[in-house]
Amino acid sequence: MSSLSEYIANQDALEQEARGCMPYDPKECTFMHGPLRQELYACQTCYKLTGQLNAICYACSIKCHTSHDLIELFTKRERTCDCGTNRFKFPCFVRYPNWSNLLLDLNFKKKFDPDIPDLNNKYGHNFKGLFCSCNKPYNPLIDSNMIQCIFGIYCDEDWYHEECLMGLKPGIINRNPNIIIKKKNLNLGQNRLNELSEPGLDANDDDDDDDDSYDILPLNGFPDLNSFETIICWKCVSKFPYEMNELKLLLNCESIDYIPANSIDERINILHKNKNNNNNNNNNENDNNNSSIKRKKKEFPKTLFLKDNYKSILKSHINSNPDTLLSKFLNKYKFMYEDDPIFKYPDDNDDSSSIFELGIKELKNIPTDQAVQGLAAYEKIKSKLTEFLKPFAQEGRIVTEEEVKAFFNSDMKEK
Ligand SMILES: [Zn+2]
Ligand SMILES: [Zn+2]
Ligand SMILES: [Zn+2]
Ligand SMILES: [Zn+2]
Ligand SMILES: [Zn+2]
Repeated sequence: MSSLSEYIANQDALEQEARGCMPYDPKECTFMHGPLRQELYACQTCYKLTGQLNAICYACSIKCHTSHDLIELFTKRERTCDCGTNRFKFPCFVRYPNWSNLLLDLNFKKKFDPDIPDLNNKYGHNFKGLFCSCNKPYNPLIDSNMIQCIFGIYCDEDWYHEECLMGLKPGIINRNPNIIIKKKNLNLGQNRLNELSEPGLDANDDDDDDDDSYDILPLNGFPDLNSFETIICWKCVSKFPYEMNELKLLLNCESIDYIPANSIDERINILHKNKNNNNNNNNNENDNNNSSIKRKKKEFPKTLFLKDNYKSILKSHINSNPDTLLSKFLNKYKFMYEDDPIFKYPDDNDDSSSIFELGIKELKNIPTDQAVQGLAAYEKIKSKLTEFLKPFAQEGRIVTEEEVKAFFNSDMKEK
């Protein structure tokens, strides 16, 4: 059994190799489309080189930054690809294919005439490879679910760990995805995408005695992952307290308090104490003389959990009550109630689309009851998928849609 770090290094190499030999040939950089909601990558190699944070499109991640250290950001809204602009030291080879021949030219640097970047691009900490309120790099093998804030105006569509949304100190939840999977399968006899086992780790499954030292998800006090579609994080909620409270009432949605605590027990204690304070306040309401010892109920920042019908409810509220503050607020953020599609390359439906693309497409078709709730699940499937597709790519064999579907139907459900 190799160590975790060896495993990760190996996995990275595999992914890079797979990326390199994938026949998928994205022909278009999204730069010309301007700001889009799209799949984004942040190149850390170029960031180190230029000192400027960057956002690059899928095509550029494959063609211009192949061997670079890339952070996959999944989707963000209103971003323009930065590749080949003056945030970089070299041109975009997707937009200017001829440049790849000129790299050896000694006057390369003088000749490179960078495009002008989109000055409205935002760069939250995800672009440095840091996620969540704990401000940590994402590790698909150790981290469990991460959930993206759908509103994102304040947090830049950040991703959050469950325990961090609850306010628990980072690191106090002990997670080993492998063990969690085993337990869940035993207990529930059902599969969820976030319980997929990791290839390569299965071999070391014999230490059953350690099972109890791992925390099982979802965490006590955290809503069931199937009970909501998306979240608005406590940071964004706190930024717009009135509007978000109206929204919470209208949608009748669950929420969870962000209560900084060192353990689940401590968190529960704080919660109870706070409730009691509130009750005492109610009892003493008419007794103003005692106000000096009156303790006020503390309001903790709240994360909201939106159910899958939230858009239609918001839409009908806006239609029938266009003058409420909530309607006016939502009008500024139309993506909250309108369709908010992720950019797709125009030839996406082409039969010759790549095996990788096919797989990713299939991944997006997975029914919502098995919904991919977070980064971890997605990343795990992707690494399995990459492994599955690699031999096809190496042999230059075309994988059929049936084969990809079969992969999802058999392999994924077994795990
Ligand atoms: Zn691009
Ligand atoms: Zn790069
Ligand atoms: Zn490029
Ligand atoms: Zn966190
Ligand atoms: Zn947010």
